[in-house]
Order: sequence, then C-alpha cells, then structure tokens
Amino acid sequence: MSLELTDITLTYADGETRLTALDRVTLQVPEGSLTAVVGPSGSGKSSLLAVAATLITPDAGTVAVDGTPTAGLSRGELAELRRHRIGIVFQQPNLLPSLTAAEQLQVMARMGGRDAGRARARALELLDAVGLVDQAHRRPHQLSGGQRQRVNIARALMNDPTVLLVDEPTSALDHERGAAVVELIARLTRERATATVLVTHDRAHLTAADRVAEVHDGRLRRPAPTG
Ligand code: ADP
Ligand code: MG
Repeated sequence: MSLELTDITLTYADGETRLTALDRVTLQVPEGSLTAVVGPSGSGKSSLLAVAATLITPDAGTVAVDGTPTAGLSRGELAELRRHRIGIVFQQPNLLPSLTAAEQLQVMARMGGRDAGRARARALELLDAVGLVDQAHRRPHQLSGGQRQRVNIARALMNDPTVLLVDEPTSALDHERGAAVVELIARLTRERATATVLVTHDRAHLTAADRVAEVHDGRLRRPAPTG
C-alpha cells in the first residue's frame, strides 16, 4: 500500500478546549489509484491532506508512505521523504512570478549543475504530459488559471512521487476547465502509478475517481468504489 493512514486523530487548540479536526480516520490508497475525498467546508479535508503529507503530526494514529512508517522520523528525514515521495498540489498554484513554466519545475529538482540538462528534459516531458510544452517559456501572468494549475500539477510530479495529494485544484476554475484538470489528475495517476488523494467539493468530479470517501465532522466514511 503506497499511503496508509491508520486511526488518525488530530485536534487543534480552540480557546480553552480542543477542536477535533480528524476523528479516528483510516484510509489506504494503493498505487495507481485515485481516491476522492468529499465533504462540507470545515469537515477536515485539508487537515487530512496535511497529515498525509507529514506536514502535521497527528495526536494519535500512524502514517506510512511507501511502507515506511513516518512516526520515528526526524524533521530532516520527513523533509527528505516529502521531497522524494510526496507530491503536493495546493488550492492556489503559488507559482513564482519571475520563473517560466519550465523553470517552476526545474527548481524542484535538487540536482547539481551536472544534471541541469536532465532536470530541463524532465520538466519539458512533464509539461508535455499536461499539454503545456508549447507554453514552457511563459511566466505565470502569461498563463490562464487552468494552465497555471496544470503547471502546478506537473511541478508536483517532478521528483516522481509515490503519493500525490491534491487539495481542491478546481476551486478557481469554471466547470469545464475544472473537469479537464480532474481528468488530467486521473490520467497521470494511472500513467505515473501514484497513490492519489483528491479533495474536491464538486460531486461532478467523482466519476474520475476509483473510490470516494466522505468526510463529515472529521469522520471518514469507508471509501466506496465509484460507478
Ligand atoms: P476543510 O478542508 O474540509 O474545509 P479543514 O481541515 O481546513 O477543513 O478544517 C477542519 C476544522 O479544523 C475546521 O473546523 C477548521 O476551522 C479547523 N482548523 C483547520 N486548521 C486549523 C488550525 N491551524 N488551527 C485551528 N483550527 C483549525
Ligand atoms: Mg480545505
């Protein structure tokens, strides 16, 4: 199993008490499969992704990436794990304004000067996979919202991650462009064999997923196959 969350509980400080954002959540995502997570605003979807991304340590429960339990890892080891095994796509593309599309990807590759050519080739290959190779020289302000989100997705794949975590990638897009981005994520999941978790509030996108998990008040209903 590429991503395994087991019995995760996460609380946040909330004045005098604590707010339970995730309540004994268990989720397993095999490689090459897309699990959609849906639920109302504030139900814990982004918290779930942050725990899966090892950006937040839960109060209880375990996270394993690629069979590696993350519990005993140091901060440095977690950063290393994220760099090599986890691709993260946040809601907003947060691209660097001064860099071209290709350069956004190249900065992800921690390769020395010797391998700069390889990073460039990989960046162009991924931009091609998301249908943007002819836009490789453009900067963010020269791209549409949908194109920026596709650069964002390509960037998350730069280090060939095992796990791909995507948080509401279509919230700034119209329905048609949003559907195209979700289709793209589904195709890349199969082609690159990532264990993908896609958070969305748009039920129209669920047909692209292999499984759908619903979250309410921090509780995850067991994922069910789509169709
Ligand atoms: P969703 O992504 O489904 O909208 P979140 O995971 O962002 O939900 O939030 C779940 C709950 O946790 C909400 O009640 C939210 O207000 C709360 N929450 C999220 N992040 C924090 C934080 N850093 N500190 C305190 N409370 C938070
Ligand atoms: Mg959220």
